[in-house]
Amino acid sequence: MTDRPEYEWFDVTTYDDNIVAIAEPGHVEDVKAYLVLGRDRSLLVDSTVGFGDIRAVVEDYTSGPITLVNTHGHLDHIGNNWRFDDVWVHAGDLERVRAGLTNQQLGRFLAPDAFSRKPPPGFDPETFHTPGVQVSETVQEGDVFDLGDRRLRVIHTPGHTPGCISLVDEASGALICGDIVHKGAMFAHYVDGNAHEYRASVQKLADLAPSLKSVYPGHSVYPIEPSAVTDVARAFDEIWNGREPDVQENSVFRFQFDAFTLSLRETWRDELPD
Ligand SMILES: [Zn+2]
Repeated sequence: MTDRPEYEWFDVTTYDDNIVAIAEPGHVEDVKAYLVLGRDRSLLVDSTVGFGDIRAVVEDYTSGPITLVNTHGHLDHIGNNWRFDDVWVHAGDLERVRAGLTNQQLGRFLAPDAFSRKPPPGFDPETFHTPGVQVSETVQEGDVFDLGDRRLRVIHTPGHTPGCISLVDEASGALICGDIVHKGAMFAHYVDGNAHEYRASVQKLADLAPSLKSVYPGHSVYPIEPSAVTDVARAFDEIWNGREPDVQENSVFRFQFDAFTLSLRETWRDELPD
């Protein structure tokens, strides 16, 4: 099956805990989606920017029912949502998923320099867009996706967006955490993001770290070791304790750590969440 165009576009890797990473390294967003295989149902977490047919890949791994849940509503996580009929998201990012994005809104993400691999056949930068979808249900803290032989618990981890979630499989020690923790550029400075919420979310995940075996992030290196979560929690502590930003640009402070960066609005100290 690897000679099909989907497999030229996506890097697909299966791990011991029956999680399949579907990565999109040929696009500048370099995003990862994860398929959690279950006995009665499988859970697809995120759907990439949407250049390749992720559903065709998913169906190579399961013939059973599929639920799609978005870790949040940014464009690089929702692009293939329209290929699925059971889509879930947190209420905080519901409108993004319902609305999708127009060709114009996707703008620079469709430019030739956004690609390091040839996009799959049929891609047209003039017409490509992200269709909005009907959402089956919203998810919230504590909800559980029961896949028959495994359960994924929803952890509300806002701060990058209001509706960011992570998912933990306590039995196998797997954490899927979207954009909240990864070894690249982490962003708490978006207009509806919040640094205080972000820090609290990372702390929530760090509290789980001793019981985790693998962490599956939305970007950059994957999977990562659970200590990566505590590293980010410690980085937030350093910032809270007065560490100076390494770069200040366009009202954003960027803090550079060994394995990642954190970006916060320069006014972050005054922006306590409601
Ligand atoms: Zn994002």
